[in-house]
Amino acid sequence: MASPSPALARTLLAENVLLFLWSDDLIAHRMKQVREHVQSQSRHLHRDDFAVVHPRDLHLLFEAYDKYCFEGLCGGALEGHSLSVRLSTRGGQAPGMTLRHTSRNGEISYEISIDVDPLFGAQIENSRPITVCGVQCTSRFEVLQRLFEHELVHLIEILCWGGSDCAGARFHGITARNFRHAPCSPPQHTQTASL
Ligand SMILES: [Zn+2]
Repeated sequence: MASPSPALARTLLAENVLLFLWSDDLIAHRMKQVREHVQSQSRHLHRDDFAVVHPRDLHLLFEAYDKYCFEGLCGGALEGHSLSVRLSTRGGQAPGMTLRHTSRNGEISYEISIDVDPLFGAQIENSRPITVCGVQCTSRFEVLQRLFEHELVHLIEILCWGGSDCAGARFHGITARNFRHAPCSPPQHTQTASL
């Protein structure tokens, strides 16, 4: 089947995240598929308590979530614009960030960054559970998944509606239906579309 146009991909993606209700079993199965996909492809994340993470691993996570959770519609909705990913150390500020950039010549690009501090902090280092996005995580890989899922929903909202806010009801609904996140209190951060 031919890929949908970017406009159709955005419409289908919006329907997908707003209207569909997935069972706990299906969501757990998808998380397993994502984990197995990434761990089989990555040179660094081949075990749950990985010691090193590389930006390429975030690309693998994007590929896997888009394939197993969103039928490739995120990639289609990007409309050929680039998505860059990076790792950061923010030290207590927002553990992730998703932005849409518009260059002076009008070129649009997207960026997801993930803070590595929660991944290698004392709590997870000492094998103590850590709550991320309202979900208890017991491994470094689970923490990375929850952080990435949060940023991926920011990206989806920006692609479909032009802006995103993780304090908003729509955001909470999407993360709950697709990933079983619980609203964070206080919210991790609010996110607008562009710089
Ligand atoms: Zn957020």
